[in-house]
Amino acid sequence: MFELIIRKANLPDGRIGVDIAVKDKKIAAIEPQINAAAETEIDATGRLVAPPFVDPHFHMDATLSLGLPRLNVSGTLLEGISLWGELRPLLTKEALVERALRYCDLAVSQGLLFIRSHVDTSDPRLVTVEAMIEVREKVKPYIDLQLVAFPQDGYYRAEGGVESLNHALDMGLDIVGGIPHFERTMEDGRASVEALCRIAADRGLPVDMHCDETDDPMSRHIETLAAQTVRFGLQGRVAGSHLTSMHSMDNYYVSKLIPLMAEAQINVIPNPLINIMLQGRHDTYPKRRGMTRVRELMDAGLNVSFGHDCVMDPWYSMGSGDMLEVGHMAIHVAQMAGIADKGRIFDAITVNSAKTMGLKDYGLAKGCNADFVILQAADPIEALRLKPTRLYVIRRGKVIAQSKPRITELLLDGRPATVDSGRDFVPRT
Ligand SMILES: [Zn+2]
Repeated sequence: MFELIIRKANLPDGRIGVDIAVKDKKIAAIEPQINAAAETEIDATGRLVAPPFVDPHFHMDATLSLGLPRLNVSGTLLEGISLWGELRPLLTKEALVERALRYCDLAVSQGLLFIRSHVDTSDPRLVTVEAMIEVREKVKPYIDLQLVAFPQDGYYRAEGGVESLNHALDMGLDIVGGIPHFERTMEDGRASVEALCRIAADRGLPVDMHCDETDDPMSRHIETLAAQTVRFGLQGRVAGSHLTSMHSMDNYYVSKLIPLMAEAQINVIPNPLINIMLQGRHDTYPKRRGMTRVRELMDAGLNVSFGHDCVMDPWYSMGSGDMLEVGHMAIHVAQMAGIADKGRIFDAITVNSAKTMGLKDYGLAKGCNADFVILQAADPIEALRLKPTRLYVIRRGKVIAQSKPRITELLLDGRPATVDSGRDFVPRT
């Protein structure tokens, strides 16, 4: 007797109509047909069953704070940072926890069960750190939350930045962050990358830096990050978030940079929604897109995963906790519209992000954790196009969220009676 069998599922790898059985919270079998009974059975005929979505770059301490204490008038990254500086002294642990838990509820409803969040360590009170550690514990039964010690105002630039970051790691944050392009000088940025990689090596932690989040074609911190990764033997444990300056860099220089990043096994985390919104602000026309070189990095064998970054905070007034919205934007700004391209984009918000976060037992294979999202779409391409309803969200074999399919009744003479966009508008061959 199985705990759960999902019948006739379409899988992201193209298999159609297979059964998935769950025992002891793990995937026990994936077969064309499983002749057995289960405590719970779900009919997934014509529906995509995927592993849950994974967001490798988010700001849980800032989310849902839009309008506090005021709105971002220019809509720029730099006004966002100064606005966050105005809000920071007003933050309380209770309000931070309440907003983060509300966001986590939204995430679950969207089938997003793994999140890496940067946590600002600039305020020596470290109320953000205390709050996010409490949230990490509270959501553990349904969301894996990783926390990055993130010196928003600069590791060297902010007064007490060095001590605060180390204190935050002592308190139990999981990952070493950084923001080299925001330090006072290129040299301070370089030195911060080196110092932060040394801390990671000494403490045995991964690294995830906001890196070169500018349009400056001469910003070179990803080069330093890759070189220090190799120097400290951190290959595979280091992520470079944003990397928007790579969009503007000289092509010859990039032809040297990408192989170095590949040697260092850097995990690349563009944030398409935020990058397209915040970069290129100093340009008139033509206007740069502020998206790193996604296709070229993927082609070079680098692990590319996309982050949501912000939802309703000082930097971004949009967002809905939906990684399919992130992938949808990536298809546009990275100009990856081919069938194979879209498959790679779907991987970037699922399996690639899981690799970035170092998740164990993630995926659709026997022995993996029985974590799934069942979508009102037939395949990953339709999921990216429609951003459809998450019919079921399942964690360790148990349904933790469910929604009715969105089916519209048409009241037109002589036309079909209902529309199920996940079934009725797929291409017919
Ligand atoms: Zn960020």
